[in-house]
Amino acid sequence: MNPPGEAEELAAVAVSLRGHLERRARAGVHVVARECAAQQNTGVPSEGLSFLSGVENDLFAQANPAYQARSLEELRAAMGDCRRCKLCAGRTHIVFGVGNPKADLMFIGEGPGRDEDLQGEPFVGRAGQLLTDIITKGMGLSRDDVYIANVVKCRPPENRNPEPDEVAACEPFLRKQIELIRPEIIVALGKFAVQTLLQSKVPITKLRGQWHSYHGIKTMPTFHPAYLLRNPGDKKLVWEDIKKVIEARRGA
Ligand code: URA
Repeated sequence: MNPPGEAEELAAVAVSLRGHLERRARAGVHVVARECAAQQNTGVPSEGLSFLSGVENDLFAQANPAYQARSLEELRAAMGDCRRCKLCAGRTHIVFGVGNPKADLMFIGEGPGRDEDLQGEPFVGRAGQLLTDIITKGMGLSRDDVYIANVVKCRPPENRNPEPDEVAACEPFLRKQIELIRPEIIVALGKFAVQTLLQSKVPITKLRGQWHSYHGIKTMPTFHPAYLLRNPGDKKLVWEDIKKVIEARRGA
């Protein structure tokens, strides 16, 4: 048994090491910890392992109700009238997410646009209609069968890309959403969602159409519906990607 002083020192070293590893991971340097290796083998996070391990900080401390939330409702309540980043200044609604809390399939976009900000629901504008078509006409599902969320929950001004501090403040909520829903498959929509989830700077043109892993969850990067509105010729590539998702769900 260690004397009390030594135990406290060890705990402080552990916290500091975890913060260091998390920063390395965010910078794209990946080490395979034993827990993560177990997770990758089974494709399912091991019992008791939180996706949030390592992101404890002032915004999302272990004692925080958001960290402790056991349902999406509790998580949304913990988010409250969020003021954790500067996007709060221009938003009408927090766009938390919508759909089946037990969905096996999750779609993740970048952040709300004007329509989403006004209505408080993700993907309800023109790009949203295209996503809805993919889900309904392409996959034969309804929006209520799947879960739809974004990396950031408040609209960036003029639909600019979310900035690193905004992502840092909001991404733990997405992680927790994914942890609570535990989908079999994630479809990451567009460069921003793909690069955030996969912690990668590789262009989406290279990542799309191939399976990747987000904490052991099969993740399919594809083009964002808004990109498809500007480049309709690439719809066929998205359909190729979605067909892989349909097949994987059949086999699941
Ligand atoms: N684009 C996104 O990335 N998300 C939305 O909710 C709407 C448009």
